[in-house]
Amino acid sequence: MSLHLRTIKDIRTLIAKELTPVYPAREISSLTNIIIKTCLTADRLHHLTEPDLEVSPVIIKKILSIIKELKAGKPVQYVLGETVFYNCRIKLNKKTFIPRQETEELVDLVIEENRGFKGKILDIGTGSGCIAIAIAKNIPDSEVTAVDNSEEALEAGRLNARLNNVKLDFLNVDILNPQNDNLLPLCKIIISNPPYVLESEKEYMHRNVLDFEPSNALFVPDDDPLIYYRKILELLGTILEPSGKIYFEINELMGESMKKIMINASCSNPVITKDLNGKDRIIKGIYDG
Ligand code: GLN
Repeated sequence: MSLHLRTIKDIRTLIAKELTPVYPAREISSLTNIIIKTCLTADRLHHLTEPDLEVSPVIIKKILSIIKELKAGKPVQYVLGETVFYNCRIKLNKKTFIPRQETEELVDLVIEENRGFKGKILDIGTGSGCIAIAIAKNIPDSEVTAVDNSEEALEAGRLNARLNNVKLDFLNVDILNPQNDNLLPLCKIIISNPPYVLESEKEYMHRNVLDFEPSNALFVPDDDPLIYYRKILELLGTILEPSGKIYFEINELMGESMKKIMINASCSNPVITKDLNGKDRIIKGIYDG
């Protein structure tokens, strides 16, 4: 198949032909650009605009293997091992799920509301570190601690912090284990996007999420969907300063239940923000202490 492949134009034609059965046309053009940009590192714009440029056999081989993985349904972010989140380059591994648009909205809200903030911020369930890193980069006087219960996720987080030139503290802590209750630092802002997708929602989800993303980072049991939020709220007395702020990303079905548990945990007047799809997605509270 690769024998006649020589130029960028040939590669574009091949990608379009191979991916047409598996991806909608509008995605193919952006996938093609992503693949070309990633594989041809030098002078990227030049490569995208010069269709007759010849490509080396090594790169062609790499592109063919990427096409194969995409055809098997693997999300492009895992195929390439990285994505862009907010203004940060984020490497992924199999213990880190792909950062979502909703989470960029969460980060955007936190940055907008806390420009110039100085002090400690805690990100619980950091995964790839995308939230913590975007916050550290955009609120430069903050001191961010990022927590996760997976060492492999933390490895991605540490690598991403270095890649984006930010200094964070990473802690390997399973917050559900009561023995760890006093391991987290006292902060002025807490942010968390814990697992919140119900097991029963699996049947509506795409195979490429179910087959490739880490299920323990996404799913919670239907009979205890707020398990992570409840635990974090129980810890507030030791991890959040009075008048401190807490921001959660939430399941769109849980807005009202979340309001109730926040009020019970002394976060009066919680405010819900909808995502770009009009779904309840972020809840913010201020801790009465
Ligand atoms: N928003 C993610 C999804 O829909 C879920 C993120 C999470 O569980 N925290 O797959």
